[in-house]
Amino acid sequence: MSSAVPYQADDLPATSPVTFLFRPRDGGGVEATGECPVCRCVTTRAWDAVQYVAKGRRIGKKAGLFPDGEPEFAMCLCATWHVDRPAEVREGCGASFWIAPPPPGSSL
Ligand SMILES: [Zn+2]
Ligand SMILES: [Zn+2]
Repeated sequence: MSSAVPYQADDLPATSPVTFLFRPRDGGGVEATGECPVCRCVTTRAWDAVQYVAKGRRIGKKAGLFPDGEPEFAMCLCATWHVDRPAEVREGCGASFWIAPPPPGSSL
């Protein structure tokens, strides 16, 4: 698969939060899947709840992964080949963006 959108590294998310579909991962944690707002490929962002607890960082195991309801920073990790992508970069179009958190009261 390839895309006409060239790779362009961008550390500054300029777009408003995008809505991704959240679901629990096998073995714990959460992943969100949706469309990159820049290249329009499907990409996934994962949060590993188990890892957080194992490190002793009590980041919201009880409160949930997204206790503050703030958008989550994400990088595009699509599987599509984008022109001009550096060899050391294996995924994505270089875009970064915000993912809107799951709705309050969701069972994640
Ligand atoms: Zn992208
Ligand atoms: Zn892409």
